[in-house]
Parts: sequence; C-alpha cells; structure tokens
Amino acid sequence: MIRDFILEWPGEPTVLLTQISKRHQRLVQIVGGYPEIGITSYPLDWPLHPKSLKAMRLSRYLDSLPSPIEGMSLRSALLNKDASIRNLNKNEAHARKSYRRFLALLLIGIREDFGIKQLGFTDKELMFLGSLHSSAHDRVGTCWPWDEIEYYNGNKAKVESTWENNADLFDSAQGELWGVKFKKIQKWILHWSASESDKDWTATLIRGASALIEGAISSLRNQIIHNFGVGSIIVDGGGRLEFIAKYNPQNMIDAALRMTFSGAYLGPGWSLSYQPKFSQEVDKVINRWGDISDKDQFYTRLQNNLPPHEVYRPSDRIEDDDEDVEFGNSKKCPLCNSENQIPKDVSWSSLFSKVENNVCDFHSLLYYTGKAQRYLDSAIRDRGKSLKYTSKETFVSSIARLDLNSLGLLFTSEYDDSRELSLDVRRRRSFRFNSHWWQIIHEVVDSSNYQVDRIAAWMAAGDDIILAEYRPMNQKNSSEESDLGILLSNLAFKLSDLSDEEFQHHRLTFSGGLSIRGDGTIQNCLVQAEEFEHWSKRFWRGYMLSNDNEEYLIGRLGEPKEYFDFEKLRKSNDVSFKLSRDSLWISDSMSF
Ligand SMILES: [Zn+2]
Repeated sequence: MIRDFILEWPGEPTVLLTQISKRHQRLVQIVGGYPEIGITSYPLDWPLHPKSLKAMRLSRYLDSLPSPIEGMSLRSALLNKDASIRNLNKNEAHARKSYRRFLALLLIGIREDFGIKQLGFTDKELMFLGSLHSSAHDRVGTCWPWDEIEYYNGNKAKVESTWENNADLFDSAQGELWGVKFKKIQKWILHWSASESDKDWTATLIRGASALIEGAISSLRNQIIHNFGVGSIIVDGGGRLEFIAKYNPQNMIDAALRMTFSGAYLGPGWSLSYQPKFSQEVDKVINRWGDISDKDQFYTRLQNNLPPHEVYRPSDRIEDDDEDVEFGNSKKCPLCNSENQIPKDVSWSSLFSKVENNVCDFHSLLYYTGKAQRYLDSAIRDRGKSLKYTSKETFVSSIARLDLNSLGLLFTSEYDDSRELSLDVRRRRSFRFNSHWWQIIHEVVDSSNYQVDRIAAWMAAGDDIILAEYRPMNQKNSSEESDLGILLSNLAFKLSDLSDEEFQHHRLTFSGGLSIRGDGTIQNCLVQAEEFEHWSKRFWRGYMLSNDNEEYLIGRLGEPKEYFDFEKLRKSNDVSFKLSRDSLWISDSMSF
C-alpha cells in the first residue's frame, strides 16, 4: 500500500527525483498520513476521497504498531526520526545513513507485525524499495538499508552509537507550539451565500465558500510541511492548525494565504512550487476583465475576503469568538446588495462571467469554485443505489448541521495515565480522531441506504459539517421522511461504537439541527438548521448536567458555558428532538 502512494504521487515520478532527501520526504508524508493525492493536495483537504481515507488508514495502522521505544508508536518514532534528520547539519553521507535508518525502522516494524523472519528482503520489500529508490545498481548501494537490517538481525557490529539506545527516536522537534485558526467560518459562509432570490446558486456558493476555505488551509498545510515537517503538525482540523515552529510563523502564514490564489509568490525563502487548488477558477475570474496589469493587487483583494484568521500561542489563548466581524461587500454587486437588481434574462453562466452584470470578483470566484467542487464530489461516489431519474432536476429538500460536543477535551484532557500530556499524545489523538471521523462520515454519507449523490457534505472544514439532501424535483411535495434523520441516527451509533473501541474515557457525541426546507429558501433552511444546532448544543449541556457530567459545562480556562434546562425541551411542542447514544439533534416539529 505504501508503494501505491509512491507510484501514484502526482507530478514527477518518485524514482526520478535525483535527491534522496526528496524521495525520503515523500515517504515521510506517507507515513504521517499526508501524501499528496492530487497536485499539492493532502488527504485532509479532501477527506472523503477514497485515496484520502486509505492514506489516513495506512498512517493509523503505523500508529498502532510498536516502535523500539516502549510506549511509543512506530508512526511517532518515525516522525521524530525525521525531525532529528531535519536538525542535522547536512552532511550527505551522514544524512543518507539516517534515511536508511528510517527505512529500516519502517520495514522492521511491519516485519514484526507480520512475523517475517527472512534475512534478505522479501518480494514486497524489494518492490517497495524499487518504487522508492529504484533498483538501479548505484541506488541500491547507497539508498537501500542493507546494513541497517543486518544490524537489526544482530549480524553486524554497531552502525551508529545513537541507535543502541535509540536516542534519535525521541521527540526532537525544536521550537514552540503555534496555532492558526480561521474565525467565523460559518457566518462567513452564510454571508457569501446570502441571496434574496432563491436560485440554486446559493448551494453552489456555499460549496464554493467551503472549498475555498479548504484551499486556504491546504496552502497552510503545504507551507508547514515544507518548512517544519509532517511531524510538526500537532492538531489539524476544525479550521485550525497547531504545529511546532522554529520561528514566528506569521510571515509564512501570510505567504500561504496569498498562495491560496496565486502560486507565484515571490518572497524570500518560500516554496514557489505551489499550485493553488482552484487556480483555474481564479484565472476565470481574472480573465473576465481581459488584460489585468496588476494581478498582485487583484490577489490581495481576493485574499482580503477570506474569513479573518488568528495566529496564536496555544498556551495563552483564550477562546473569544463573540466579537463582530465585517465581511466584504461590493456596492454594485447584486449578490452583495439586494437593492441591486439581478439583471433579468441572463443565463447564470453569463451572470457570473460578464463583468457588466456587476457580480463582484469574490462572488464570481465562489461560483466557479462551487461548480468545480460539485463535479469533484460526485465523481468520487462509489456506493449507493442508482438514481432513478424521472426528472433531471433536483432540489435541496433538507439541511442538517452538526458539531461534535467538547471535542477539545479529547485532545487536552489527561485521562490516560499519570504521564504528563505530551505533545506526542496530542498529536496521536488528533490524527487518530481525524482518521476515524472521516471514515465514519464517509460511511454514513455514502451509505448504500440512500441514492447516489442524494446526500452532499457541503462543508468539510473540520468537525462542523453541513449536510444537504437532494431530491428529484417531482418529489417536492412528498411527505417522505428526510434521509438526513436516518443518517444522524447512524452517526450517533457509530460515534458511540468508536468511543467504546478507542476513546474509552471520552464519549464522542454531537449536537445537531435538522431543518426541512418546505417552501422556504435554501438560505432560510440553513439559518434554521444553524439555530436548531445552537439550541441543541445548550440543551445537550443541560442534559449532561442532569446526568452529573459537569465537566462538559466548563471551558478550558475554567469559564462556565451556557446551557438550557433539558426539561424545557422535553415539554416543548414547537420543535422535536431526538436523543440517541447521548447525541442530540433538534428539528422542526414535523420532521420525525
Ligand atoms: Zn458580491
């Protein structure tokens, strides 16, 4: 499987990379769960892609294997080894030894799991080494870990002094923990998809906005991996990244955000190889204007419309998400301002492509991005009943929003033993959680219980998700139950099973809102789902309190969290709710 990722790496084939360090780097990314699955695109950029799920499973497997150091997983040991290689002075012969040691550790870990005792390389190992370093004579001599495997087998005198006590496998990432987080993502998406007229482009704009955020986070991942290594990433998800940096990363972050739009960023020391995920869409927006002389200014304007971000030190950060934020607004744009009439008798494509219709650049970008994302999403579906199209058009019939409860506790609480909660423990929990979570979301969204493409995950920036159900137009007035209700029940069960299996001390649950659209607009349906989710979160806390679980009502710094009395929900006639395995969701009264 590792070989598959090496062979399928986009761009130049791995064996043709002349520097061993670059080939090694690809292997480290595979081990860490961050291989490129498309041009500069990582599994977490597109977590429901089959390749992404496979990559995360592979890395989680390596995380389940023991390493030569007691209590440390093989994945952690290898990531630490990579960090210590990064700290070496680049003496080539010495570095080569380290790369071989890395390879040997990986092979030995897998050998032990399968009980392989063979002295020489196995067939599979030969194929793997061939795909990574090639089996050409010169490469076999310098890159293959012959001596290192021999050393493990006890046939050779010591190779390197640090290997005896494995000192090179302990945490050696130098630097301090930094974080970057996008704020107000949900409000930002609502702002940019708002529209008085109820056209289907609302859904396209929502998809576009969430895809663009993913693009920005992807660019950040790319820079962090490039500058500090895969092992430096401690927490990745929910619109935030926390990582170990050797220096204040502010400039790097600015550069990365710029490169969401333009790969050709000319700053000192930055990687210039980046290709933005949606560069074609950005080009379309630029080309609306014919020749633009100052593209740089153009990119700056687009960049300024991203949601605000915060660069912080996790040790002294106080969550404060209540401040008001102003989002971008273009005076003439009919989507930014409802006083402006949307020109009649124009097709959608010309509405967004012709500048005389006054749609602003950012709305236009979101539209193109959303369309691209829709194509991408439906291209990867691999299960589900085939759709019986009696009418070609579909419409959004219901929307669910959900958010995991107290996920932060999972990464910060010190439940497992008396050991201090090390960065490694956080890094592992965060990664393992991501890998499981997306597997579960994939299973419930792509379930064979629904028709292909019937459920779409619009928002995938971390644990806060918007799910939309599409139905054929001719079922508009059907009273059939929403499939999203079934989906949420499935999700509650799966999270509960996962808690039993992996996170015994922390029950994974969610709070959600499910809104049936009826005759309203998509926008209203979305706002309603958000409101239900908001209530649900507070009633859930009240429910936990009534069950003596006070810890869920206290923030990280001891601040109390708001809650509602759960009994009120029980007595309410205005909404219905469902409580399953301690997950709670609220819906319109008619939905269940
Ligand atoms: Zn606009």
